[in-house]
Amino acid sequence: MPPTLEENLKRARPYMERFAADVQGHFIGGRVCAGESGKTFSNRCPADGALINRVAAGSAADVDAACAAARDAFPGWAAVSGERRAELLHGIADAIEARADEIALVESMDTGQALRFTAKAAARAAVNFRFFAERAPDARRGVSLPAPEHDNYTMRQPIGPVGVITPWNTPFMLSTWKIAPALAAGCTVVHKPAEWSPLTAQLLAEICNEAGLPPGVLNTVQGIGEEAGRALTEHDAIRAIAFVGESATGARIMAQGAPTLKRVHFELGGKNPVIVFDDANLERALDAVVFMIYSLNGERCTSSSRLLVQQSIHDEFVEKVARRTRAVRVGHPLDPDTEVGPLIHPDHLEKVSSYFDIAREEGATISAGGAHAELPWPGHYVQPTLFTGARNDMRIAQEEIFGPVLTAIPFTDEADALSQANDTRYGLAAYLWTADPERARRLSEALEVGMIWVNSQNVRHLPAPFGGMKASGIGRDGGDYSFDFYMETKNVSTALGEHRIPGLGTG
Ligand code: NAD
Repeated sequence: MPPTLEENLKRARPYMERFAADVQGHFIGGRVCAGESGKTFSNRCPADGALINRVAAGSAADVDAACAAARDAFPGWAAVSGERRAELLHGIADAIEARADEIALVESMDTGQALRFTAKAAARAAVNFRFFAERAPDARRGVSLPAPEHDNYTMRQPIGPVGVITPWNTPFMLSTWKIAPALAAGCTVVHKPAEWSPLTAQLLAEICNEAGLPPGVLNTVQGIGEEAGRALTEHDAIRAIAFVGESATGARIMAQGAPTLKRVHFELGGKNPVIVFDDANLERALDAVVFMIYSLNGERCTSSSRLLVQQSIHDEFVEKVARRTRAVRVGHPLDPDTEVGPLIHPDHLEKVSSYFDIAREEGATISAGGAHAELPWPGHYVQPTLFTGARNDMRIAQEEIFGPVLTAIPFTDEADALSQANDTRYGLAAYLWTADPERARRLSEALEVGMIWVNSQNVRHLPAPFGGMKASGIGRDGGDYSFDFYMETKNVSTALGEHRIPGLGTG
């Protein structure tokens, strides 16, 4: 039997009290520091709205101190052998595993994500470190490209200090996707976590420090995006920015980083279609459709938020989804039975809830949910929601709601499914349910998305590329794709004998 809500609250108390005891600072050059301005912001628990702690609001001066620490630490860290870096990263993974309970409990209280998911996310964060630890010794390897008169070979070198800016959904796991490969490549890092979920970034900084990462290799600056985040993207010492967040923020970061010619890697929003054909295994499709929108509170970039169902099975399939949606359990994030927890922030609750009125105004039907969920606590709870009778040109089908809200739309045939699936500004992921492998292949060629899962929920394979097209992103994470971003590739060309050199100025 998993621990009850009461037991989990008791387990979480000492961890949360530790944060409440003092203003949460930054982590710069191997030390916790308060920040030069003394400005703070409050961090509240989504489960009950109670104040968790106050957090230092990083200023441009704090960011400058962190970037200087990263710049100073870079030559030493880049010179550490790949084998030693691998050892250190495995040590970080060990420490994450040892503190996985703490990380999961704190993450749930900070974000509102149900413990059943944050526990898995903590374990995956350790796997991310191990995966890139294994690859650190080979990160610099290049290729041999012989030419008739020249021996060409490439080598990779870490690009320099990098900035990592992360959002509030699954913040711990997501930050390790960026930080683990950056460290494995030999880069130093300044991390700016989201202001709505500041806690676990501090745990990661502590863990890395205790595992022996040299001072200045990973620095964390807490703060508001427009101030601390902006300063990081504009800083001269930072060579590249890995950003996960909204598409509009990505566009701003691109402009902010332009004067210093920053390399950027963007993982942005999505409005991902799940396309269900009438020949599919409909029981499995139903499980996947429900899981991929209501897990992680629907606050998930790869959530399948647009359900495209073939007309011939539409009514029956959608009715089954509605029944399951009504049965999804909303509750406290530390309750082991909870499937959907509170949304991260009152502003986000308001944004998600605003789509209930938008759906009505647009003429769609609310077949499940469509209101706040009443619980014994004053948190930001919303009912899992299903919109039906929608068209793809409605706002509920085009805009990223980023909550437990699904929009179902019928389609007639393969061509119609494809045209509706691609008719969006986003291009992150698509999910296909069909028994016809040729159709799956044809659609995979034609879908304008970075990732396609066929007869599958979203199962991440770390060597595979992760990322989106169109307004969903630039660049790919995973395996060697990550190293391409965090490293520069050099080519060395050596003459093999006496090739012709044109003589100028020889009369
Ligand atoms: P957001 O864009 O509001 O904020 C993300 C981060 O950017 C935060 O740390 C914020 O402080 C910072 N920021 C804001 N303005 C900034 C600026 N001008 N300069 C520098 N930094 C700035 O996003 P969010 O609301 O925290 O997260 C939700 C979004 O993230 C959704 O759109 C979701 O789809 C996306 N997301 C994408 C992926 C993916 O892999 N594609 C994964 C998770 C989340």
